[in-house]
Amino acid sequence: MAGRLRQRLRGCAMTVIRAQERESFVRCRRAWDLGARARQNYAPVEQPFDLQRAIRDALAVYYFPGMWDWDRATVLPLVLAGFERSMRRQREGRRLTDAEDDDWHGRVRLGEGMLRHYFAWAVTVDRFSPVRVDTDFDVNLSDPADPEWDMRGPDGEPIRYRGRLALLAVDTHDLYWLVEHRVCDEWAELDDLRLDERGLFACWAWPRFYLGMRIAGTVYTELRTEVPERIEAPPAPRRPVAVAQWHRRMYAGGTEEPEGVLQEGNDWFRRTRIPRTEEELARAGRRLSVEALAMTDPAAAVYPSPEPSRCAVCAYRPPCLAINAGQDPAAALAAGYRVRGEEAVEEGRLGGVTWGMGRGAMPPRFPTRGGA
Ligand code: SF4
Repeated sequence: MAGRLRQRLRGCAMTVIRAQERESFVRCRRAWDLGARARQNYAPVEQPFDLQRAIRDALAVYYFPGMWDWDRATVLPLVLAGFERSMRRQREGRRLTDAEDDDWHGRVRLGEGMLRHYFAWAVTVDRFSPVRVDTDFDVNLSDPADPEWDMRGPDGEPIRYRGRLALLAVDTHDLYWLVEHRVCDEWAELDDLRLDERGLFACWAWPRFYLGMRIAGTVYTELRTEVPERIEAPPAPRRPVAVAQWHRRMYAGGTEEPEGVLQEGNDWFRRTRIPRTEEELARAGRRLSVEALAMTDPAAAVYPSPEPSRCAVCAYRPPCLAINAGQDPAAALAAGYRVRGEEAVEEGRLGGVTWGMGRGAMPPRFPTRGGA
């Protein structure tokens, strides 16, 4: 395996650590080894329908910066159409059983109900203005032995960390926040949100991708998979509360320290704002480099880390069980998995770019917190 991997890494123009692959590496190295693009690169042929993904696609339309000051009555049908399109894409080319078809329709009904209810709530609490939606970032990692230098992979190219933001927003104090939308059955524990590494690493990485922009922290919006029998819509304004104060800004820079953790919500939606300190972000960057070093080591040890809650949702149970039994997993892999091709580049993602990223597009200076 090490030889094959060394060969694959040597053939790469660069080594990329994707946010979800890093999480897989930390959770269970066997699942990571089976699924990561730089490893065996297997993906299940059929995936369960993903309501979270469709809701996130819909909210990328809702928070599309170019439509932020539009009357919400105009935007909402577009959001629902975006949700349905995303769900429909998930069943394209699949031959569904009756049970799967029922499951799909059930999720569509649930998602539409959640979104209609969310609109009435969000329009009264969105005290920010969206700047970007659903946009990727990609940054070089520092060498843990000498942070002044980029870390290099076996091919001599920089090792990069790649992730995606659901929403970058600027608040009324000109502070930038990364907003994440989560679909859940139950609220997350506050400490679990504070410990969430994907959000933390994104806060560390974005200022390296868009140089100098300080991110104040993460805002988690949780949407519970429940819909009240009757949607009690408050007398909602026709536009989000923030629009009256200001429009989206490209080059703001807050000088105030964000307040501590804030939470608001009701039985169905909750929003938690978690500021991140400079020290926390610096430590996160160092940790990410150390992990990337382990992930890109061709001799990295691969072993399973079974744990009921983890294995219950693992997509690689059949090959994992075959390996545990001392069998060749080839039959299990051939039956339910495919090797992914090259990663497709998604062009022109809606709202992905609201200002230039090229040389010369950068403002001369971003104020930092404290006005330095
Ligand atoms: S089933 Fe459990 S032990 Fe096996 S690969 Fe998945 S998470 Fe790891």
